[in-house]
Amino acid sequence: MAILLVSAQSKRCTKCGEVRELVFFAKAAHGLYKKSARCKKCDAVFREKYQKDGSADRAKTKWRKSVVGRACIKAKWDRYKKTEEHRKCRARYRSSVKHKAASKRYKASKYGREACARYKFRRRARIKSVPCTLTALEWAAIIIGQEGKCAMCGRSDEPLTRDHIVPVSLGGHHTKENIQGLCAWCNSKKNNRMQQ
Ligand SMILES: [Zn+2]
Ligand SMILES: [Zn+2]
Repeated sequence: MAILLVSAQSKRCTKCGEVRELVFFAKAAHGLYKKSARCKKCDAVFREKYQKDGSADRAKTKWRKSVVGRACIKAKWDRYKKTEEHRKCRARYRSSVKHKAASKRYKASKYGREACARYKFRRRARIKSVPCTLTALEWAAIIIGQEGKCAMCGRSDEPLTRDHIVPVSLGGHHTKENIQGLCAWCNSKKNNRMQQ
């Protein structure tokens, strides 16, 4: 009812009841004139209370657990993983004392010991059962052929690691034709997939 009494350029705040010009109301997706129901002054008070009494935190937690929230967080993380910043951050952590200590602790633990042994055994078994002729000389020739640059990203400031172009797990051989030099980062990223 009250709304009918006010002029077209103003609106009544539902909180304090005062009639104010439209500039005193924040923009909103819905509502009269697409403006918030509360005037900016009342809105500020409301928002402060919303932050302080934990409602904001509760809403955020609820959103994080929702299907949409989880998808958004994952998408954001996936985007970040592709950035140079993430690569640097990871490299920093990997060379940190903290990581070395954590990795040492894990390898000394029951689960870590078994995981290491499993990995080593599987790797040895795989390489042994396929043609395996790569010599130190051939490997050196490959590095020279690539001018010390990673075959995937092209960086030359890191030592190259041996990478099977066709992974051994997919039937690739441990021979000079199937070996390329990758930086440790690209090698771990490629894992046991074929290069795209
Ligand atoms: Zn108000
Ligand atoms: Zn690389």
